[in-house]
Amino acid sequence: MDKKSVSDKKTRQAKWDEPLLFERSIPGVMAHQVPIAEEKIRKEIGSLDSLIPEAMRRKGYPNLPEVSELQVVRHFTRLSQMNFSVSLGTYPLGSCTMKYNPIINEAVSSHPGFAWLHPNQDVRHAQGALELLWELEHWLAEITGMDAVTLQPAAGAQGEFTGVMVMREYHRCVTEECEQRNEMLIPDAAHGTNPASAAMAGYKVIVIPSSDEGLVDLEALKESAGPNTAGLMLTNPNTIGVFEKDIAEIAGIVHESGGLLYYDGANFNAIMGVVRPGDMGFDVVHLNLHKTMSTPHGGGGPGSGPVGVKKELAEFLPVPRIVKDEDGFFNLDYDFPRSIGKVKGFFGNFGMLVRAYSYIYSLGYQGLKRASEVAVLNANYIAYHVSRIRGFSLPYSQDAPRMHECVISAEKMKEDTGITAMDVAKRLLDFGIHSPTVYFPLIVPEALMIEPTETESRQDLDRLISAFQAISDEAYSNPEHVKGAPKSTALRQLDEYRAAHPKTLTLSWKMYQENKDE
Ligand SMILES: *Cc1c(COP(=O)(O)O)cnc(C)c1O
Repeated sequence: MDKKSVSDKKTRQAKWDEPLLFERSIPGVMAHQVPIAEEKIRKEIGSLDSLIPEAMRRKGYPNLPEVSELQVVRHFTRLSQMNFSVSLGTYPLGSCTMKYNPIINEAVSSHPGFAWLHPNQDVRHAQGALELLWELEHWLAEITGMDAVTLQPAAGAQGEFTGVMVMREYHRCVTEECEQRNEMLIPDAAHGTNPASAAMAGYKVIVIPSSDEGLVDLEALKESAGPNTAGLMLTNPNTIGVFEKDIAEIAGIVHESGGLLYYDGANFNAIMGVVRPGDMGFDVVHLNLHKTMSTPHGGGGPGSGPVGVKKELAEFLPVPRIVKDEDGFFNLDYDFPRSIGKVKGFFGNFGMLVRAYSYIYSLGYQGLKRASEVAVLNANYIAYHVSRIRGFSLPYSQDAPRMHECVISAEKMKEDTGITAMDVAKRLLDFGIHSPTVYFPLIVPEALMIEPTETESRQDLDRLISAFQAISDEAYSNPEHVKGAPKSTALRQLDEYRAAHPKTLTLSWKMYQENKDE
């Protein structure tokens, strides 16, 4: 590591006393005026009004803030200055793959031909879009080693639900053991969405413990797999960032019991172009395009969780399927009587799919492989250096290389100084670095899950490592200093409970006013 690159350049975030747009609102103020159009519209509204039945006509105006265009621009620019993003600094939020998303993919997705296309457009006039979707399906099938893909699901979690429903239909129609096979096996280190998706599809969740190495415990798996097993949901590399080296044996145990293998591909950034879930023995896979394939995400924005399956399961995928006939004409085919039906309006989040297409197209097969190789190299660099800093350690499978991420434990630091993983995470913000994922997976005490991604440079990785070093030095010399962090951000120690609790979370102006009145 380059010792010279110390992270003593601390950040200071802008701080604005910014009211809500509603609070700025002055009746009659408008963002813009288009005099000629306005006159025309007023004329037409007059005639349109008479076409709309009285009962369905809007009474009065919608309750929107009345502000000028410049006020809107300043408002959102100020808010963005009080936020943290991947465009500002390192964002090593483990399992979320917060990589930089090249602007070219944004430019392609906002091409008017894509952005203005109506989803109800006649297929004859949407051939280009359908070709893009058809090709993307085939590329994703190729990259994952699957035979057919649906692009409909709008998130990883919805992809999981779709995949599990497909597995259920398979057991209903093919093995005809749907009633009996009512258990889904899920390792204890899995992402919380896995048991949630399985439970939503009606399955009983059987938890498979981790071994001392942090891998699937094969003996426990053998004991649990049997005539009631619908399948196993597995993330590989798993959530501690280690590749399940016994995957062939795991696949054998599950298949022998008559179950199917589901691959949670949210960690796909580790293995693109290197190894394929289809070749590891998986029958169903979902990808998180918003993580791996270049879509800005976080804050609950739109996502994309395509699902790929082996050919025995293809007939159960959602409809419509995109098909190409002999003349090269692209069409929508609803004629799959065993399909689980629709899981999302139209074709999924089309803009994300265009970005993913552009991402794959611009990198090519070798580029995808290279991205994964560098992501893995970066994670190992971090694991090596951070685990050698006083107070931190790398639990489980010390000798196994990390894949795209590593989970560091701050347990020793907590014992020695009282400084917790959460304190470290918050203090990192003072160094201009976003927090890693904390307290996940649950099998690691005081967990800090770091995923640097391939887009961070050597210099930025060194900055991250020296920030950890500086926090460790502080923790052992002046822990109170760490406790009060972050000190340089616009908002300081947020109330995590209130921020996430449905009772106090305020999502709209209406809710805000109601809460205020109470
Ligand atoms: C992010 C993630 C998911 C869920 O994906 P969403 O798009 O957030 O629904 C599932 N599994 C793993 C391992 C993940 O990291």
